[in-house]
Amino acid sequence: MQVKGTEIFVKALKEEGVDILFGYPGGQAIDLFDALFDQDEIEVIMPRHEQALVHAADGYARSTGKVGVCLVTSGPGATNLVTGIATANYDSVPLVCFTGQVPQSLLGNDAFQEVDIVGITRSICKYAVTVRDRKELPRIIKEAFYIARTGRPGPVVVDLPKDVQQAMGSDEYPSEVNIRSYKPNEGVHMGQIKRAVTILNKAKKPLFLIGGGVNISHANKEMTKLVDITGVPIITTIMGKGAVSTNHPLYMGNIGIHGSYAANHAVSECDVLFSIGTRFNDRITGKISEFAKNATIIHIDIDSASISKNIAVDIPIVADAKLAIEKLIELAVPVKTDEWIDEVSGWKKKYPINMDKNSGMTPEKIIRTINDMYKNLIVVTDVGQNQLWTTQYIELDENKQLLTSGGLGTMGYGFPAAIGAKLGNPDKDVICITGDGGMQMNIQEMATAVAMELPVIICIFNNGYLGNVRQWQEMFYNKRYSSTCLRYRKSCNRDCGNCDKECPKYTPDFIKLAESYDAYGIRVTKEEEIVNAFLYANSHKDGPTIIEFIIEREVNVLPMVPGGKPLNEMIMDC
Ligand code: FAD
Repeated sequence: MQVKGTEIFVKALKEEGVDILFGYPGGQAIDLFDALFDQDEIEVIMPRHEQALVHAADGYARSTGKVGVCLVTSGPGATNLVTGIATANYDSVPLVCFTGQVPQSLLGNDAFQEVDIVGITRSICKYAVTVRDRKELPRIIKEAFYIARTGRPGPVVVDLPKDVQQAMGSDEYPSEVNIRSYKPNEGVHMGQIKRAVTILNKAKKPLFLIGGGVNISHANKEMTKLVDITGVPIITTIMGKGAVSTNHPLYMGNIGIHGSYAANHAVSECDVLFSIGTRFNDRITGKISEFAKNATIIHIDIDSASISKNIAVDIPIVADAKLAIEKLIELAVPVKTDEWIDEVSGWKKKYPINMDKNSGMTPEKIIRTINDMYKNLIVVTDVGQNQLWTTQYIELDENKQLLTSGGLGTMGYGFPAAIGAKLGNPDKDVICITGDGGMQMNIQEMATAVAMELPVIICIFNNGYLGNVRQWQEMFYNKRYSSTCLRYRKSCNRDCGNCDKECPKYTPDFIKLAESYDAYGIRVTKEEEIVNAFLYANSHKDGPTIIEFIIEREVNVLPMVPGGKPLNEMIMDC
C-alpha cells in the first residue's frame, strides 16, 4: 500500500516501541504533528522550549534505558536542540531527533527557517542525515534507532524535508538493519579477559574504577558480584556512581577533582587499575603524567575510540561491560587484599567528605534528608555546586538512580531532564537538585510540569551566585566576583566583594513564581524546616513543588584538586 511519508513516520515510531515523543511544532513539522494527532499509542509531550525538550527526552532515555525521541521544526527549532544533542553525546545517551526541513527545492536558498542542521550537528552526535528520497525514509528511521541504542549509545539526527514528508511510498517498515560501515562489537576477547584476571590475581593493591558504561549496560548486579568475589575495593566516576551500592563496604567514593580523599589516593597508589566503562575524562585524571602512575591499567570499554585516548592502557578490552563482567565472574577468585583494604578504608574513615565545619542548613544536610526519606528515587541534578554536592552526598542502590550532565556540564539540564524522568517513571519519586542560576535557564518548564500534572520536586539551592564559578574566583582569582552575583543590580558597586544583608533583594521570588504557574512552593531557611518541606512536597501528587533552600552564600565544594595538579594534591579545607 502507498502511504505518505508522515504516515510511515508514525508507523515507524510505533514499531520501534516509542510511547512518548517530545515535540514542538512549526511550519516544517506541521504535517508530522498532524499525522500524530489521530493516534493514542504515542503520547506527544510539548515542553515550552526546544532546548528543554531535548533534555527531557534525555532524562527519559537515561532513566528508562529506551531511546528518547524528539520532533521539532526547521531553523530555530532545530538549532535550539544543539546544546541538548551535545549533552547527550558526551554522556552516551540514545536519542533520535527528527527535525523538519524546508522542501528540497528550497534547500540552499536561505529559505525561511532553513539551516543545515546536519552540518551543524555532525561533530556533536553519533550520526546525522537528511532524508533525500521518500523510498529511503523507512530504512533511515530504522537505522537511526539502531545506531542510537547500540554500541556506545548516542544521539542521531534525522532531517526530514517537507516534500519527503508529503510524498507517497511503501507502507513497509524493515524488520532488520544491515549497515556495512557500522558493526558494533558484540563479543568479548577471552584471551584478553584471561590476561586481565591473571594480572588482577597477582596484584597487591588492586582497584576497580567504574564509569558510566557500567550503568549504561545495566551491569550493576554483575559488578557487585565481581566485587564480592574478588574483594577488590571500588571507586567510581560520577557517571559510574551507583554501579555498586554506595553502602557497599568496599566502595571508597568518587574519583576526580571533587572526589573523595580515599578514592583519589587509592588510584594514585594502586598497582592494578581495573577500569570498566570510563573514558578517563580530564575531571578524573588530574595531571595525566601522575595518574595511576604505579599501576598496570586494564580498560574495558565498548568504544575502541575511548581506549588509550587520554590514558595509555596496558590491557585493552573492547566489549560491552555486562558481557565482559559476566566472563570475568566465571574466572574470578578472591584476591589477597586485606592490608590494602585496611589502608584505603583507613583513608575513607579518616577523611570523609563532610561539611561539619559549616553550620546551619548545609547542602549535605539537605541531601542526607533525601537519602533518609526517599527509597525509590531518581535524582536529577543541574550543573555546578548543586551537582557536585549531590554527587558527593547522595546514596545510591539498585532502587535509586542519579542523572547528571557530566561531560558537557550543561546548566539548565536538571529540571527538564527531571520532567522526562518522571514521565518515564511515574511510580518513582523524582527530585531535581538545582541552583538558582541553572533553574532560571529552563524555568519555563514549570508550565510543562503543571500541564502534565507531574509531581516533580525541585530543590533550588539558592546562594544568589553562580556558585561554582564564584568558588573558583574566591580560590584562584582573589575573590574578584566578576559576573557571578545573581543579586547584582546596576546601582551596586561591581567589586563589592561582600555578600551581606545589604545586598539587593533576590529576584525572581521562586515561590511566587511557582504560584503563578499554579504549582506549589515553599521556602526553607532553617535546618529544622527541611523535613517538613519534603513532607509538604510529598503531599502534592498533581503537580510540581519548588523547595527553595536559602543556603549560605559563600559555601564551597570540597575537597578539590586545583587545575593541572595530581589527584592526590587535594585542597581539603579553605
Ligand atoms: P561517560 O562519560 O559516560 O563515559 C562512559 C564510557 O563508557 C565511554 O567511554 C563509553 O564508550 C563507555 N560505554 C558506554 N556504554 C558502554 C557499555 N555498554 N559497555 C562498556 N562501556 C560502555 N566526574 C568525576 O568523576 N569526578 C569529578 O570530580 C567530576 N567533576 C566534575 C565537575 C563539573 C563541574 C562537571 C560538570 C563535571 C564533573 N565530572 C566529574 C564529570 C566529568 O566531566 C565526566 O562526565 C565524567 O568523569 C565521565 O565519567 P565516565 O567516563 O565514567 O562516563
